[in-house]
Amino acid sequence: MIHSCDLAPAYVRAIAPYQPGKPISELAREFGLSEQSIVKLASNENPLGVSPKALQAMQEALTDIARYPDGNGFVLKDALCRRFGVALPQIVLGNGSNDVLELAAHAYLEPGVEAIYAQHAFAVYPLVTQAMGAIGVKVKARDFGHDLPAMLVAITSKTRMLFIANPNNPTGTLLSKPELLAFLRDVPKHVLVVLDEAYDEYLPEELKSESIAWLAEFENLIVTRTFSKAYGLAGLRVGFALAHPLVADLLNRVRQPFNVNTLALVASAAALQDGDFVRRSREQNDAGMAQITAGVRNLGLDYIPSFANFVSVRIPDAGTVYRRLLEHGVIVRPVANYEMPDYLRVSIGLASENARFLQVLAQVI
Ligand SMILES: *Cc1c(COP(=O)(O)O)cnc(C)c1O
Repeated sequence: MIHSCDLAPAYVRAIAPYQPGKPISELAREFGLSEQSIVKLASNENPLGVSPKALQAMQEALTDIARYPDGNGFVLKDALCRRFGVALPQIVLGNGSNDVLELAAHAYLEPGVEAIYAQHAFAVYPLVTQAMGAIGVKVKARDFGHDLPAMLVAITSKTRMLFIANPNNPTGTLLSKPELLAFLRDVPKHVLVVLDEAYDEYLPEELKSESIAWLAEFENLIVTRTFSKAYGLAGLRVGFALAHPLVADLLNRVRQPFNVNTLALVASAAALQDGDFVRRSREQNDAGMAQITAGVRNLGLDYIPSFANFVSVRIPDAGTVYRRLLEHGVIVRPVANYEMPDYLRVSIGLASENARFLQVLAQVI
């Protein structure tokens, strides 16, 4: 007897599921800890929580949730147009930017074609590539970051997409503006470049790329951003892509009609207006990054200098240290699945959370 699962495409059966950070509630159950005592620094979430403006917008929209959301997301798109100086048809909204990455893969990939990404790059790129039955081409990293010349060399007539995370997760590495611009000029026009800027808001002004202005020059560029990190809306799931209208149109064709829900639409539009919250989030992150990097240096540990809201710390026997941290109610992220078995990724938290992490780390190493 053939089981229905046996008839699923081999490339689907071969997918290794995404490994999320351990939820607080799960650790509390496993070790009999109280949820309040647990420090989670595992998913690059915003330790400041949610913008009060976003919360208020959701309160007001709660009475509308018997109705379907606006499938065109006008209120959010309008706010994005004004914020970024783009036109409505250049925008694709997603249920998290993860959704947008998947839409790009759906629109551009099929069995037999290739997508390129870097070693140690965000796990979603190989996942969405494999889900389409396309061939993932992983290019060896240089100093934990993208090796752009090597990525250019990897392009063939079968290449359809190339993913760049800037800053990259889980390494926190950043490509410079001139490096990226020169790269975009060298990429053949038949290859779509997905520039994932999930952590852009954490960069100081002078290090931000000019990716949105570059859209005018490069019709094969997609810039993705998210409300999950500096905007503090990870649980709502909202992200977006900006691209040439023809590219955006392709992605919108494979999108679910109502992929972004009502609360997510109003909250993200309101969060976009709360510049003060994003500024505080960045300041909080800068201070926490200084605290954690100084703390691990004091413990004699090395780390990869990071431009995002997390840092990957080199720790001998990282797997054991991860489990011992868990026993003490501190959740960080192992990154062995990113070919970094000697590292743990730590999200920047509140000063008290960072201090607790450092204290427990000192105890368990
Ligand atoms: C967190 C993250 C995202 C955002 O994911 P969402 O689906 O928007 O929550 C995208 N890309 C990278 C590199 C990330 O680290």
